[in-house]
Amino acid sequence: MNADVTALHAVSTAPAPVRRGREFLNVPGPTNIPERVLRAMNRAAIDFSGPEFIDLSKSVFHDLKPLFRTDGEVFLYGANGHGGWEAALANTVVAGDAVLLPETGNFSAGWTEMAKSMGVEVVTIPNDRRHAIDPNAVEDILRADADRKIKAVLVVHTDTATGVTSDLRAVRAAIDAADHPALFMVDAIASFATVDIQMEAWNIDVVVTASQKGLMCAPGVALVAAGRKALAHAETIETYTQYWDWGFRRQKEHYRRYCGTAPEHIVFGLREAMDMIAEETLEGVFARHARLAEAVRLCVGKWCEAGALQFNAVVPAERSNAVTTILLPEGFTTDAVRDVCRDQFSVSVGGGLGHLNGRAFRIGHLGDNNEPMILGCLAAVEAGLKRIGLPIGEGGLPAAIDWLSRPTIPGR
Ligand SMILES: *Cc1c(COP(=O)(O)O)cnc(C)c1O
Repeated sequence: MNADVTALHAVSTAPAPVRRGREFLNVPGPTNIPERVLRAMNRAAIDFSGPEFIDLSKSVFHDLKPLFRTDGEVFLYGANGHGGWEAALANTVVAGDAVLLPETGNFSAGWTEMAKSMGVEVVTIPNDRRHAIDPNAVEDILRADADRKIKAVLVVHTDTATGVTSDLRAVRAAIDAADHPALFMVDAIASFATVDIQMEAWNIDVVVTASQKGLMCAPGVALVAAGRKALAHAETIETYTQYWDWGFRRQKEHYRRYCGTAPEHIVFGLREAMDMIAEETLEGVFARHARLAEAVRLCVGKWCEAGALQFNAVVPAERSNAVTTILLPEGFTTDAVRDVCRDQFSVSVGGGLGHLNGRAFRIGHLGDNNEPMILGCLAAVEAGLKRIGLPIGEGGLPAAIDWLSRPTIPGR
């Protein structure tokens, strides 16, 4: 114990390396917060029950609906994504109900654990965590659920651990094919404002997201959108606790929407971020994510050609536009990659989660990014991989540059 303390002390007295320039944040959340959003938050607190805040807040709630592409209700909680998960469950299921929650990766495991902690039975569909959800398996399970014990189908759209995106429309079609009344609830925390998700048109009942990913804001706010069917269903069940209760938050007085003090500064930031998205247009945001994600995939694909690295997502069409998960070969740990990238090349990349703990790293490419940031990240990560002697194929950066230089790519 004492020896450890001495060792720590010895480290802390060494001069810290001087760092200059920007540090790159390429973890898949929290993501880069744009200067404009930071400036919008850099202000004094105001009375959250006064007209200035209420007006701003009403505008945020109003403009969130088209972002979710719903004409239902959006609820905003002072919470992270886990809070959003709990809010979605608390309003739609009670202890003893069952839900179908197909395995996707670490985040389906987390949502499963949370549902179980609330006394909800979870039916799953096993997955090797390298493939999207199989809609046929969803249909089979729902068809077999003759007494309609399953109250909701819960889908993690992009599992941020695996970098795999499932097809929401295909899952919806499976629920319809089975003619099953279950609600369709989606964790879009990693995919929201990076790819198109149309709640109304695709008949999704609940969508959960959080402030710190595609929405480019500080962490601390969960957003849960509920369509008409989900809202009507919520009225028929005994909600878990008041804090999450949609009915409580839908009372007439606007301040009720927060069930207490509003997380004002994040709401200021959210207003600005939503203005930025409106200026770029949602289609522009999606095109930019597609363009930059493809640059990452082309570069990583070249790295993989040396036979050491692999995409976790086996099927190219299932690779996420928000995050790329890369499997490491024997003899190379996540920490070795993350440490060299962060400490020597000023880029933070994500680690491996769950069963990939220690065996993978992740490049986040969602939120406020552009070409030089993505190319800079890829170049620095490549330098880091070379520094630790990891065999990678050549031509990664040129492939990304070549793609980005084309006049016909998304958004250009
Ligand atoms: C980040 C994330 C979560 C968890 O969000 P927190 O804010 O960390 O609680 C859940 N699901 C997905 C898909 C995520 O990307």
